[in-house]
Amino acid sequence: MSRLTSLRSLTSSARSRSGLLVPSHVKNALARQTQARFNSSVTRDPMTGELTSLPDIEVSRLQVIQTDKPQPPPDPSSLVFGHTFTDHMLAIPWAAASGWGAPQIKPYGPLVLDPSATVFHYAQELFEGLKAYRDANGKITMFRPDMNMKRMNRTAQRIALPTFNGNAVIELMKQLIRIDKHWIPDKEGYSLYIRPTFIGTQAALGIAPPSEALLFVICSPVGPYYPQGFKPVALYGTTEYSRAAPGGIGAYKLGANYAPGVMVQKEAAKKGYVQNLWLHGPEHHITEVGTMNAFVVFKHPDGVTELVTPPLDGMILPGVTRDSVLALARDHASGKALIDGMPEGKLVINERPVTMKEVIDASKQGQLVEFFGTGTAAVISPVDRIGYLGQDLHIPVGPDGMGPVSRPIWKQLVGIQTGKIAHPWSVLVD
Ligand SMILES: *Cc1c(COP(=O)(O)O)cnc(C)c1O
Repeated sequence: MSRLTSLRSLTSSARSRSGLLVPSHVKNALARQTQARFNSSVTRDPMTGELTSLPDIEVSRLQVIQTDKPQPPPDPSSLVFGHTFTDHMLAIPWAAASGWGAPQIKPYGPLVLDPSATVFHYAQELFEGLKAYRDANGKITMFRPDMNMKRMNRTAQRIALPTFNGNAVIELMKQLIRIDKHWIPDKEGYSLYIRPTFIGTQAALGIAPPSEALLFVICSPVGPYYPQGFKPVALYGTTEYSRAAPGGIGAYKLGANYAPGVMVQKEAAKKGYVQNLWLHGPEHHITEVGTMNAFVVFKHPDGVTELVTPPLDGMILPGVTRDSVLALARDHASGKALIDGMPEGKLVINERPVTMKEVIDASKQGQLVEFFGTGTAAVISPVDRIGYLGQDLHIPVGPDGMGPVSRPIWKQLVGIQTGKIAHPWSVLVD
């Protein structure tokens, strides 16, 4: 048996023992959700039972109301992540009776909502996060916005909010970015963070699909996550609390997933760690790093380098950065598109369960190469220490704070995002 086959069979037995095996009804539900409709808005007429088509989001109905008080964008070096917003926002209302209304780009400002609006009571809220970049030639691009729109529709369906034409929202976001493009700092490592949000606004208590909802998009100029170069983080292996459970909502970007993590992160901070490493089940399976996806790199005795991330089993948020790292690494491994500076020798990429025991054993045998998180805000976040059951596990990092696999992948990914490397993931805005 080769090292890899034995690894795989070990993994599958660990999977059933831990209860991580995904039951078929959950799998089917997941499969249905991934096939979630991406456009059109077909409903059944309550009187006649006939299938009728309500208006979807239409770019041609866009109304633009320019602000009469444009603000000067601040000095980029003073920016704090998510504290500054551009002059305009996009808002698209929805009502069960009339479908999607006319999109509006209007001055950024407060929303007027009824205190009984369902978002305040039952957390009918979801969001997305993506970035627009100004590249070396002054071109403005977005990174894989189609992925965010698919995920947003999947999340909307999970909380009984209406779905929508994701391509139309991409076009509308492009228009918003063009209007506020002078807010994207012209400085390396800076970008515009885009936050699409979707809330239930029906003014009525009662737990049901809302009869009214609002999709809006706001934009925030942001600086590099690590302005002084990579700073590896220390994680607290959290066993006292869970972020997500099988059949729950961990795989969706719902606001309801985040408030419960704040106090848990504060407890980790009190113990001297920056973030939580969310562990699941009796075998302490690795799930996520704070609000990032988790990756581990092993170097096996046969010389194979293995890049591992937990599978999308319903508890893991399907990150766009996660997907991008996997795709780039797979293209490198298959020889389709080589990444400069990757370690010599065979690279295998696996989405499979990984436990703390496996990571600790690998560390003892000198086979743990690196550990990192991935997400839109920081792209890649290296980890140098994990506090686990009263002991600290130290993880190797290079002099620049990164590891031998994350460093070249980060360079490739950022090269694509900033237009230094031409790639279909980069979508032209202006
Ligand atoms: C947003 C998020 C991620 C990362 O997703 P990206 O699309 O890569 O930004 C990972 N985990 C959680 C819990 C998240 O909320």
